[in-house]
Amino acid sequence: LKFLRSKKAKPAINSVYVHIPFCRSKCYYCDFYSLAGADEKIDKYLEALLRELDFWSELLDFSSVETIYFGGGTPTLLSSSKLNDLFEIVFSVLKGSFIEVTLEANPESLSEEKLSLFRKRGVTRVSVGIQSFDSKILNFLGRLHSAEQAFKAAELVKEHGFNLSLDFIYGIPGEPFSSWKKTLLKAAELQPDSISCYAFSFRGKKFRGRSLKSDDDYFEEYIWTVNCLKTHGYRHYEISNWALPGKECRHNLNYWLRKNYLGLGPAAASLIDDLRFSYEPELNNFLAESPHFYFEKLLPEQIQMEEIYLGLRTNLGIKLAQIPPRSLKKLEGLIKEKLLEIEGDCLRATDRGMFVLDRLVLELLE
Ligand code: SF4
Repeated sequence: LKFLRSKKAKPAINSVYVHIPFCRSKCYYCDFYSLAGADEKIDKYLEALLRELDFWSELLDFSSVETIYFGGGTPTLLSSSKLNDLFEIVFSVLKGSFIEVTLEANPESLSEEKLSLFRKRGVTRVSVGIQSFDSKILNFLGRLHSAEQAFKAAELVKEHGFNLSLDFIYGIPGEPFSSWKKTLLKAAELQPDSISCYAFSFRGKKFRGRSLKSDDDYFEEYIWTVNCLKTHGYRHYEISNWALPGKECRHNLNYWLRKNYLGLGPAAASLIDDLRFSYEPELNNFLAESPHFYFEKLLPEQIQMEEIYLGLRTNLGIKLAQIPPRSLKKLEGLIKEKLLEIEGDCLRATDRGMFVLDRLVLELLE
């Protein structure tokens, strides 16, 4: 904080993430910081959000905020009136017009009333957590909604004219490939603006008694997903994200481009110039008068590594010149393996390369 205060001008923030760490129940696979059964703390949480926004507005310049993202947790768990309070708080400090305001919604807690409120309060993009269009799989994952509810929720968001984004998981233990195919084809039928497909991830070899899929199985589902979405007109713009042309999530692009962002809420992370920090992943810490953070000042080598890693996650790629000379021989090999490709002065990961990006970047920069 001393470091931030010592800056001559307040650093300008491009994106703000607001975490809503409340869920009705915990999905069995979930690794995000969220709590079930803590709804009585929502009012206190909103007060803490206002306190933190006021605090940061002393140190940071919010006048160039382009995107805001309300994520969770489950933002739609809040009642319409609490959501209204949330918007009131956030927009009392973040003023102006934004390129994109996203809110994450879960099918079982989305309603026409809430969608009308979102429209009134300037939300432009609604990201619905669907995960699967197979009710048995949803039940196995511990989701609270059925496939039918999920489909209806997506249709409702579309009818209300929002930029619609849908989230899915592939590679779920025990799920036949045919079931994933049906899910994705049904998603494409809805023609959302963007689709996120995340590989199932879980620490351990088994999930609820079922073995995790092999890398080959994951890869088969991933490559099928890439091809299927391409034929439906979607661009693969990041490892797990596809969008119709011009409909990419601007907020996430700002993360990958390493623009300055502020994250509010337990476990929420921020990047301000060469400073990375996050709140402790603990609700009570955030509610306390002066919450604790983890701070890290990044060294130039770390920043270089991050720029390469984050750039290669996206279809924007990086400039060829960003690759250190010592890695050029390795680069040649990875291009031969068809994991990376060059176009002009731009270096990009291929679809296959994106699937093994962690290994690829380590190999390239070791
Ligand atoms: S709704 Fe989302 S954040 Fe909440 S437990 Fe399920 S996966 Fe996690």
